[in-house]
Amino acid sequence: MIVILEPDADVAHVAAALQGLGLWTRPMAGGSPAMLEVEAHSASVAEAVVLAVPGVAQVRSRVSPHPRVDVMSRTFTLPIAGGASLVLGRDTVLVAGPCAVESAESIAQAAALVAQAGGRLLRGGAFKPRTSPYSYAGSGIQALKWLAEAARQHGLGVVTEAMSELHVDAVAEVADVIQVGSRNMQNFALLAAVGRKAKPVLLKRGRGASVEEWLMAGEHLLAHGAAWVLFCERGVAGLVGETRNTLDLAAVALLRHAYELPVAVDPSHGTGRRDLVVPMAKAGAAAGASVVLVEVHPEPARAKSDGPQALLPPQLKELGEHFGLPPVVPANTALPPYTSRYPEFYKKSVAERRRAVIANLGLSHDAQAYLRHGRLDFAIADKMSENVISTFALPLALGLNFRINGRDYLVPMVVEEPSVVAAASNAARMVRAAGGFRGDATASIMTAQVQFDHVADPPAAAEMMRQRRDVVVAAANAAIPRMVARGGGCMDMDARVLDGPGGLVVLHLYVDVGDAMGANVVDTVAEHVAPLVQSWVGGKVGLRILSNLPLRRLVHVECDVAADMLGGADLADGIARASNFAEVDPFRAATHNKGILNGIDAVAVALGQDWRAVEAGAHAYAGLGSDYRPLATWTRTATGLRGVMELPLAIGTVGGSTQAHPGVRTAMEIVKVESARELSVVMAAVGLASNLAALRALAGEGIQHGHMRLHARKSDVFTAQAEHKEIR
Ligand code: PEP
Ligand code: MN
Repeated sequence: MIVILEPDADVAHVAAALQGLGLWTRPMAGGSPAMLEVEAHSASVAEAVVLAVPGVAQVRSRVSPHPRVDVMSRTFTLPIAGGASLVLGRDTVLVAGPCAVESAESIAQAAALVAQAGGRLLRGGAFKPRTSPYSYAGSGIQALKWLAEAARQHGLGVVTEAMSELHVDAVAEVADVIQVGSRNMQNFALLAAVGRKAKPVLLKRGRGASVEEWLMAGEHLLAHGAAWVLFCERGVAGLVGETRNTLDLAAVALLRHAYELPVAVDPSHGTGRRDLVVPMAKAGAAAGASVVLVEVHPEPARAKSDGPQALLPPQLKELGEHFGLPPVVPANTALPPYTSRYPEFYKKSVAERRRAVIANLGLSHDAQAYLRHGRLDFAIADKMSENVISTFALPLALGLNFRINGRDYLVPMVVEEPSVVAAASNAARMVRAAGGFRGDATASIMTAQVQFDHVADPPAAAEMMRQRRDVVVAAANAAIPRMVARGGGCMDMDARVLDGPGGLVVLHLYVDVGDAMGANVVDTVAEHVAPLVQSWVGGKVGLRILSNLPLRRLVHVECDVAADMLGGADLADGIARASNFAEVDPFRAATHNKGILNGIDAVAVALGQDWRAVEAGAHAYAGLGSDYRPLATWTRTATGLRGVMELPLAIGTVGGSTQAHPGVRTAMEIVKVESARELSVVMAAVGLASNLAALRALAGEGIQHGHMRLHARKSDVFTAQAEHKEIR
C-alpha cells in the first residue's frame, strides 16, 4: 500500500500516526506530494481507517512501480507570454517549430508562422542529437536566446530539449516546457537533473522503449521534482522501410484512455515524411493526444536538419484550421484605437466580421476561440441550470456606432428578433453625428425588503425602526463584511406602513452593491436584520428579499439628433407626436417601452444579466405614477430632437454568469466597461437608440417595410410566418 500525503502534511507526524495503527512505512524519494510506502509485514488495516489519519490525502492499495505517475494531475495550467495560460492535457494545443533553431531570423519567421496557424508553443532544438558526428548539431546556447526572443515577440511559449546535464540550467531558463528527447528517455542522470528544475517536461518515448519503461522514465522525472510530465509518442522502431519510425497510436490511446494520462503526439519524427505528417497528426489527436507537436520550416529545402519532414507553412495553417485554433495575437502588438465604427459591416460574411473585430480588439485567446465555435460546454451548462439535456444558441451580434460620454462602445447584443441590432446601430449613427449619447447613473444601490405583519401598532413600529436607523444599518453591514471592505454596504433604510388589514410594516434596506447585480447581497442583508428588528417591533417576519424596483439605482441618458439626419423636419415632428401619444396612452406606452427593451434586453442577454429583473424594474418604474408612462420621451429642438430617458437598471459586471459563461466573458471583453455603472449607461443608450429607430420607422414608412426586408433574408418558411406576426 502507498499512502499519499496532503501537500502541507508533516511526514514524520503522519508516519507516527500510521505506526500507531500497526503500519510501518518508509518515505519514498523526493517530489511532491510526499508518499509513504507501507512495508509488507505491517498489520492489515482498512483503507478508510488510513484515510481518516490527518494529513493523508489518498491511499493506493494496488502497488504500482510508478505511483507518482499514477496520481499526477491530468492537467497542468501553463502560464505563457503576455499573461495568457494554457491548460495542458485539456486544451487542444499545437506545438510547432523547426527541428533546430538555426538563426535568429529563421526562428523569428517560424514563430510568425506558428502564431498565425494558432500554435501556442514554439519548439526548436539548440542542441541536436544526431546519428552522425559530422552532421549539424545545433547552434548551442546562443540559439536559446534566439528562440526565447522569437517566442516572446509572437506571444508563444517555448518547448526545447535539454540534451545533457550540462545545459539543463540554460534550457530551463528559456523553456516553459523542457523536452527530454527519445534518445535520452533512459538517461537517468539527465532525468534527475531535468526533474530538479521543477518544470513541466515533455518526455519523448524512446525508439525502442516499452510503454512501461516510458512511464518509469516519467516516474524518475516526478521523483526528482518535475512539476508535470507530458508523454510524447514520436514513433518506435518498426518494419516499414518507407517511414522513419512507426508512430504507435495504440500507445497514445492506451495512455489517454486506459491510464488517463496526458499525451502528446509527434508525427514528424514518427513518419519522417512531410506528406504523412498532417494525416498522422489528425489521427494522433483522434487517438487521444491533446498536444500535437510538429516540425515546420519557412524553407524546408534549406533546413539544416530534418528538412524532409518539416511541414510547409500552408500545411501548418491547414492543421491549425483543422483543430479550430485561432491565430495568436501577441499581447504587445499595438492595436488600432478602439472604435465602434465598422462601415459596411453588414455586407461582410460572419467570418470576415469576426476577423475584423478580433484584429482590432486584442481579444484574449479564449474569447477568440469562443467567437469561432460559439459553444457552451455541457459541464458549464449543467452548473448554470437544472435538468440540462443540451444547450441552445442564439446569434451574437454587434451594435455599432455607439458613442457615449465621448467614448466609443462596440456593444454585444443577443436577440432572436431581426432588425433590432440594425435599427439600434442605425440610430446610434445618427446620434453620433450630433455628439453621441450623454448619460450617468446613480451608485449601485439595491433595495431589500423585510416584511413584518401582525404588528400591533404599525405607525409606532415604523417610527421605532427609523429612530434606530444607525443600529439597523450597522447590523446590515455586519452581514456583508466583504462588500463593506470593497466600499459598498448598507447606506440607508426606510420603514413603510402599508394599508390594508394585517398590520403590515415593511423595512427597506438600501445597499450599495458595487459592480454586482446584488441580489444575493441584499437577500443576505434582509435575512440577517429581520430577527433583530422583530425583537423590537413584534409581529411576524414575512418575506426577506430584494425589490426588483430599485428606485435608488437609476440611470439617465439623453441625446440630440439633427432633423437632417433623421430624414427631415416632418420625421422629427412625427417622432415628437409619437412620443406625445405614448405619454397620454398606456396602450401605446407599453409598445413604446417594449421597443426600448428590445435593445436593453439584447445587451443584457449578451452580458449574462438577469433580464427578467431588468424588465420588471423598467415596467414597474413606468407604472409608478397614476398611469403607466413611457420611459423615454422626445421633444423638438431648434435643430431636431432631444430624447431623454430614465429607468432603474440592476445589472452587474461581476458574479453571476459573467464569469461562468464563455460567451459572456467574450462579450465583456468586447464592450470594455470598467464598472456596472458604466455598463448601465451603455445599456440605456442602446435602449434609447432602439426607441428612436422604432419611432422613426413608425413615423416614416411604417414598421413593416424595413422589418419585412430583414425578415425576407431568412428562409421562406420563416418569412411566411413573419407575415402573420405583428412585430412591435
Ligand atoms: C526533436 O523533437 O527535436 C527530436 C530530436 O525528437 P526525438 O527525440 O523524438 O528524436
Ligand atoms: Mn527533428
